[in-house]
Amino acid sequence: MNNTVSNCIFCKIVSGEMPATPIYEDAQVIAFRDINPAAPVHVLIVPRQHVDSAHALDAENVSLMTHIILAAQKVAIDEKVEASGYRLVMNNGADAGQSVNHLHMHLLGGRKLSWPPG
Ligand code: 5GP
Ligand code: ZN
Repeated sequence: MNNTVSNCIFCKIVSGEMPATPIYEDAQVIAFRDINPAAPVHVLIVPRQHVDSAHALDAENVSLMTHIILAAQKVAIDEKVEASGYRLVMNNGADAGQSVNHLHMHLLGGRKLSWPPG
Protein backbone atom coordinates (compact mmCIF):
# COMPACT_ATOMS: atom_id res chain seq x y z
CA MET A 1 0.00 0.00 0.00
CA ASN A 2 2.87 2.34 0.85
CA ASN A 3 4.29 2.71 -2.65
CA THR A 4 7.16 5.15 -2.33
CA VAL A 5 8.07 7.01 -5.51
CA SER A 6 11.78 7.73 -5.90
CA ASN A 7 12.72 11.42 -6.15
CA CYS A 8 9.36 12.49 -4.70
CA ILE A 9 10.03 15.11 -1.98
CA PHE A 10 6.97 14.20 0.07
CA CYS A 11 7.68 10.44 -0.14
CA LYS A 12 11.14 11.29 1.24
CA ILE A 13 9.61 13.33 4.07
CA VAL A 14 7.18 10.48 4.83
CA SER A 15 10.07 7.96 4.93
CA GLY A 16 12.24 10.26 7.06
CA GLU A 17 14.87 10.56 4.31
CA MET A 18 14.23 14.32 4.22
CA PRO A 19 13.61 16.39 7.36
CA ALA A 20 10.26 17.85 8.37
CA THR A 21 8.76 18.39 11.80
CA PRO A 22 5.38 16.70 11.96
CA ILE A 23 2.76 18.68 13.80
CA TYR A 24 0.25 15.86 13.35
CA GLU A 25 0.59 12.27 12.19
CA ASP A 26 -1.38 9.07 12.14
CA ALA A 27 -1.31 5.80 10.19
CA GLN A 28 -2.54 7.46 6.99
CA VAL A 29 -1.29 11.04 6.93
CA ILE A 30 1.45 13.35 8.12
CA ALA A 31 1.13 17.15 8.52
CA PHE A 32 4.02 19.62 8.64
CA ARG A 33 4.55 23.35 8.07
CA ASP A 34 5.08 24.61 4.53
CA ILE A 35 8.71 25.60 3.96
CA ASN A 36 7.53 28.82 2.24
CA PRO A 37 4.48 29.91 4.24
CA ALA A 38 1.83 32.02 2.51
CA ALA A 39 -0.04 32.77 5.75
CA PRO A 40 0.74 32.77 9.50
CA VAL A 41 -0.63 29.22 9.59
CA HIS A 42 0.35 27.19 6.53
CA VAL A 43 0.36 23.45 7.04
CA LEU A 44 0.56 20.68 4.45
CA ILE A 45 -1.45 17.52 5.06
CA VAL A 46 0.10 14.66 3.12
CA PRO A 47 -1.00 11.03 2.80
CA ARG A 48 1.78 8.54 3.49
CA GLN A 49 0.76 6.72 0.31
CA HIS A 50 1.94 8.30 -2.93
CA VAL A 51 -0.85 9.52 -5.20
CA ASP A 52 0.03 12.12 -7.83
CA SER A 53 -2.88 14.50 -7.19
CA ALA A 54 -6.55 14.66 -6.27
CA HIS A 55 -7.30 14.07 -9.92
CA ALA A 56 -5.42 10.75 -9.71
CA LEU A 57 -7.62 9.44 -6.89
CA ASP A 58 -9.95 6.56 -7.71
CA ALA A 59 -12.51 4.42 -5.90
CA GLU A 60 -9.66 2.38 -4.33
CA ASN A 61 -7.90 5.24 -2.59
CA VAL A 62 -10.34 8.16 -2.41
CA SER A 63 -10.85 7.34 1.27
CA LEU A 64 -7.51 9.09 1.79
CA MET A 65 -9.54 12.30 1.47
CA THR A 66 -11.47 11.38 4.60
CA HIS A 67 -8.25 11.04 6.56
CA ILE A 68 -6.90 14.29 5.12
CA ILE A 69 -10.03 16.25 6.09
CA LEU A 70 -10.17 14.79 9.60
CA ALA A 71 -6.46 15.58 10.07
CA ALA A 72 -7.07 19.13 8.79
CA GLN A 73 -9.77 19.63 11.42
CA LYS A 74 -7.37 18.51 14.17
CA VAL A 75 -4.60 20.78 12.84
CA ALA A 76 -7.02 23.73 12.67
CA ILE A 77 -7.90 23.22 16.34
CA ASP A 78 -4.25 22.79 17.39
CA GLU A 79 -3.29 25.92 15.43
CA LYS A 80 -6.24 27.84 16.96
CA VAL A 81 -7.83 28.86 13.66
CA GLU A 82 -11.01 26.82 13.93
CA ALA A 83 -13.01 29.83 15.13
CA SER A 84 -11.42 32.49 12.88
CA GLY A 85 -11.59 30.23 9.84
CA TYR A 86 -9.15 28.69 7.44
CA ARG A 87 -8.83 27.64 3.82
CA LEU A 88 -8.19 24.13 2.49
CA VAL A 89 -6.58 24.05 -0.95
CA MET A 90 -5.51 21.28 -3.30
CA ASN A 91 -3.72 22.43 -6.42
CA ASN A 92 -4.18 20.12 -9.39
CA GLY A 93 -1.79 20.35 -12.30
CA ALA A 94 0.17 23.11 -13.95
CA ASP A 95 -2.42 25.88 -14.24
CA ALA A 96 -3.26 25.52 -10.55
CA GLY A 97 0.43 25.79 -9.67
CA GLN A 98 0.91 22.26 -8.34
CA SER A 99 4.65 22.03 -7.77
CA VAL A 100 4.90 18.75 -5.82
CA ASN A 101 3.22 15.82 -7.55
CA HIS A 102 2.32 13.99 -4.35
CA LEU A 103 -1.25 14.59 -3.16
CA HIS A 104 -1.39 17.20 -0.41
CA MET A 105 -3.82 19.66 1.09
CA HIS A 106 -2.78 23.15 2.16
CA LEU A 107 -4.35 24.49 5.37
CA LEU A 108 -4.06 28.29 5.40
CA GLY A 109 -5.18 30.62 8.15
CA GLY A 110 -4.24 33.20 10.73
CA ARG A 111 -5.10 36.14 8.48
CA LYS A 112 -7.95 37.30 6.28
CA LEU A 113 -7.53 35.49 2.98
CA SER A 114 -8.58 37.17 -0.24
CA TRP A 115 -10.93 35.64 -2.78
CA PRO A 116 -10.73 34.84 -5.64
CA PRO A 117 -7.20 33.45 -5.44
CA GLY A 118 -4.70 34.70 -8.01
P1 5GP B 1 1.84 22.92 -4.43
O1 5GP B 1 2.50 24.10 -5.09
O2 5GP B 1 2.27 21.62 -5.10
O3 5GP B 1 0.38 23.03 -4.24
O4 5GP B 1 2.43 22.89 -2.95
C1 5GP B 1 3.68 22.39 -2.63
C2 5GP B 1 4.13 23.11 -1.38
O5 5GP B 1 5.19 22.36 -0.81
C3 5GP B 1 4.66 24.51 -1.62
O6 5GP B 1 3.85 25.45 -0.91
C4 5GP B 1 6.09 24.46 -1.10
O7 5GP B 1 6.47 25.63 -0.41
C5 5GP B 1 6.09 23.25 -0.20
N1 5GP B 1 7.34 22.54 -0.12
C6 5GP B 1 8.13 22.16 -1.18
N2 5GP B 1 9.20 21.49 -0.74
C7 5GP B 1 9.10 21.42 0.62
C8 5GP B 1 9.91 20.85 1.63
O8 5GP B 1 10.96 20.24 1.38
N3 5GP B 1 9.48 20.99 2.91
C9 5GP B 1 8.32 21.63 3.23
N4 5GP B 1 8.00 21.70 4.53
N5 5GP B 1 7.53 22.19 2.30
C10 5GP B 1 7.90 22.08 1.01
ZN1 ZN C 1 5.37 10.80 -3.21
